[in-house]
Amino acid sequence: MGWKTLDDMDLRGKRVLVRVDINVPIENGTVTDDTRIRRLAPTLNDIRDGGGTPILLAHFDRPKGKRVPELSLLPLVPALEAAFGAPVVFCADCRGPAAEAALSALEGGAILMLENTRFHPGEEQNCPDLAAEIAALGDIYCNDAFSVAHRAHVSTEGVARLLPACAGRLMQAELEALEAALSKPQRPLVAVVGGAKVSTKLELLGNLVEKVDHLIIGGGMANTFLAAQGIDVGKSLCERDMLDTAAAILAKAEKTGCAILLPSDVVVAREFRAGAESEILPADACPADAMILDAGPETVARIARILDSAKTLIWNGPMGAFEIAPFDTATNAAARTAAELTRAGRLISVAGGGDTVAALNQAGAADDFTYISTAGGAFLEWMEGKTLPGVDILLRKRAEPAEA
Ligand code: ADP
Ligand code: MG
Repeated sequence: MGWKTLDDMDLRGKRVLVRVDINVPIENGTVTDDTRIRRLAPTLNDIRDGGGTPILLAHFDRPKGKRVPELSLLPLVPALEAAFGAPVVFCADCRGPAAEAALSALEGGAILMLENTRFHPGEEQNCPDLAAEIAALGDIYCNDAFSVAHRAHVSTEGVARLLPACAGRLMQAELEALEAALSKPQRPLVAVVGGAKVSTKLELLGNLVEKVDHLIIGGGMANTFLAAQGIDVGKSLCERDMLDTAAAILAKAEKTGCAILLPSDVVVAREFRAGAESEILPADACPADAMILDAGPETVARIARILDSAKTLIWNGPMGAFEIAPFDTATNAAARTAAELTRAGRLISVAGGGDTVAALNQAGAADDFTYISTAGGAFLEWMEGKTLPGVDILLRKRAEPAEA
């Protein structure tokens, strides 16, 4: 591994600044879904068991550098205490005299939660002064928020530069899964990319054709690829200004030896609503007044055969307009095939993306996947092959001499 974990740190008597993502839904001052908080328990427990004092650093929503009372982290305290089984002391600033006073008054066994880091404009500007002030509160920096690792902010990058730094348990699991899926994959490696638009996933497609053995393209973006091959897609979602781009991706795939699979049959309908009449047609036979809303059964069978011979799968984007049945059929079938192969120990499967996670849950397949990333933008940037500042700094810190 290229980064340190909590196992590499001597935590005894140390103040550990832990960057977490606790953007949870709140209604009337109460947390309504504490999943994100509960997932942090292993990191917090390991720090406390090792004799360290956790100091939580987090942003909440987008206050844009101003103190916005509605975006305070204070209402999260009861949920944090319940999840971690420890007293949580809240400090109304993430820096300065207030934070220092809260820290020195902290009793053994308690956790300190600092206020929303984005109340300070310096946070998103990665201001060195703010980084130094926050770093002064801790002895060790631990990043457990992969979902913000694509941002070079004080709490994700600046503080890490100044202290011995490591990945928390969640970050560690995410990095290990992503490394197994794309950096050092067992081959054949297959990518499934779907969703609405080519334009939002251009860089991702460009990176994947260089790395994967098979690229399965589905969803609305497949229509753009079909159109690029001169096929009439009727009223389907299709980005006309992306036809050259799609053709260029196909040409690049030919050069790199990446086999592309596009739908050979499709499900079309005249309306996108529950119970709308639909029919299965060859991909090049969409009527002028109809829309392609899903891949057909022959395509589903071809996808299953590719998955069956694969060792690793990486998935972003649903195969069809999965929100409304029956246009969820191809997504469900591919998801269940991947889930079964994973359960049988024959496939490493990693998936991410807001709608993708929803679709895999809806298919009842998510629990069987090797890893489901809830990181959103960070997951996509990683799939695009970009350097994530929050991860990169951990890699660079690893190269530094061990802490005293
Ligand atoms: P993710 O959030 O996982 O990255 P996207 O946001 O790119 O995924 O894509 C999901 C959206 O794509 C869904 O709203 C789905 O309805 C839409 N979609 C998929 N296939 C089609 C299609 N054939 N026509 C129109 N929309 C589609
Ligand atoms: Mg989406």
